[in-house]
Amino acid sequence: MHDIIILGQGALALFAARKALMKGEKALVIGEGVPFDRFLLLHENALRRLERVFGAAPGHPLTGVKVLNRHLEPLKFLSFADYGLRLHAMRYSALLEWMRPWHEAETITARVAALDGEGRVRLADGRTFSARKMVINTIAAFNRPRLRFRHRKVFRMRFLQTDVAQDAVLQINDAGCYAAIVPFGDEAAVVSSGDETPLRALLGESVMKTPAMELHLETWCGLIMRQGRVVHVGEAFRRVHPHTGQGLNRALDTIDALLEGRGLGRERLYDCLMWAGGIALDLSWGVSPFLRDAIFSLLDTRIGMRLLSGTAFWHD
Ligand SMILES: Cc1cc2nc3c(=O)[nH]c(=O)nc-3n(C[C@H](O)[C@H](O)[C@H](O)COP(=O)(O)OP(=O)(O)OC[C@H]3O[C@@H](n4cnc5c(N)ncnc54)[C@H](O)[C@@H]3O)c2cc1C
Repeated sequence: MHDIIILGQGALALFAARKALMKGEKALVIGEGVPFDRFLLLHENALRRLERVFGAAPGHPLTGVKVLNRHLEPLKFLSFADYGLRLHAMRYSALLEWMRPWHEAETITARVAALDGEGRVRLADGRTFSARKMVINTIAAFNRPRLRFRHRKVFRMRFLQTDVAQDAVLQINDAGCYAAIVPFGDEAAVVSSGDETPLRALLGESVMKTPAMELHLETWCGLIMRQGRVVHVGEAFRRVHPHTGQGLNRALDTIDALLEGRGLGRERLYDCLMWAGGIALDLSWGVSPFLRDAIFSLLDTRIGMRLLSGTAFWHD
């Protein structure tokens, strides 16, 4: 029997497995499939967590986020560097590649069919497993019900080569249109929604010929994080809007708190704040430039930036 079973094979499962081994726990990872590729913004809290567990902070360093209106006029520069906070960007697939050489925990590549509150895991091939201490679940299908918010918007995500943004995220944020250009080295991820005219003006018409992946967004906030021996983390508990760049960042803190034996109250509070903040940002760009500007002004303060960078309640 294993101390800890970790369900999933994404970045959170790899992080949890490494952390569990460092704590001397006998861990078993069970998962199947490769997650779809996307961009990732890694905030100060996540970079510190990754440094402690893997010895380095991965990704392409950025200074902050430059916000423009639809006429491409600058509105705000959220300078993480000015507040002494780091912001890195990278592809999700690159993060997984970066983590894999450290993966030493016993692993079963198989489909998980069911999970119960006692921590019993049943695989599609009929095998069953249970953990002595806990099951860390990163598979979203195994936790309901949730407070759901269906975003009316459809996001298009593209990867392309451009030098329009180099050392900062460029964000067009105006009524009815949204785009973020996240640079990492010689390429960038471009995510957009609504009217793409300003994006075309910035990147040229050819951007529309780059294949785009469509994302129909829904976010949720789970009601139950811990059920008996099972703890749901990451998107198995809540999905925050990609706007805030917090999904993975927040969940690394949750896993750390769990394996260090700290309570999860602070994590739940933080998750809820980020979930609500993401929805507020989402509504603001579609509805009111005034609301958008107010939110950016609130963020451009010491507490705002510490919230965004995940270090507001940092105490270790
Ligand atoms: C467009 C976009 C941009 C984002 N940007 C950011 C960002 O900037 N910063 C940030 O912090 N977060 C961001 N996120 C969120 C972040 O990507 C996720 O929160 C995080 O990757 C979740 O990691 P995970 O390991 O839990 O899930 P996943 O990577 O989805 O891994 C789950 C794994 O479980 C496997 N699996 C699923 N079902 C089963 C089953 N039944 N049996 C066995 N295996 C199974 C899957 O195949 C997969 O390998 C973004 C998300 C999106 C969509």
